[in-house]
Amino acid sequence: MRLGNERRRWHGTTRACNIGDARRCYPRPRLLTCCGQSNCPLCCILWSSFRVDKSNSSGRLFNRFGAGIYTSSTSSKADDYAESAVPSYYKAMLLAKVIVGRGYKSTQDAQMTSPPFGYDSVIGEAGGSLKYDELVVYRDDAIRPSWLIVYQ
Ligand SMILES: [Zn+2]
Repeated sequence: MRLGNERRRWHGTTRACNIGDARRCYPRPRLLTCCGQSNCPLCCILWSSFRVDKSNSSGRLFNRFGAGIYTSSTSSKADDYAESAVPSYYKAMLLAKVIVGRGYKSTQDAQMTSPPFGYDSVIGEAGGSLKYDELVVYRDDAIRPSWLIVYQ
């Protein structure tokens, strides 16, 4: 993998706990401890970073660029995947540092399982069959969570 070419990208995933929520009591400190549940994808990422073998754990069938870790520069795209599995007034998503290396550009659903030979990642560009940009990496060490964003 080529070093460098680092980008910041959004990643939405399921939150099975209330991490990031404000407590009801004054002065409303936020809950900032990982729940430790293996079925909480958000906390698993916060605890031990992203893992390709855990990607697509939501069970969604549509995975246009294969088994990788999907991110986007469009926060509303990541919001589509930022689901709260428990009642909450908030949603949460991650801002991650992603090492693009040499990115293969595509504007179409490629139905690929890995980047073409000589490339490290896939850059899905909006237009063609893609509504939003995507950046897909296929190695655990190509991406790290850097910020937890809590929003309504
Ligand atoms: Zn959790």
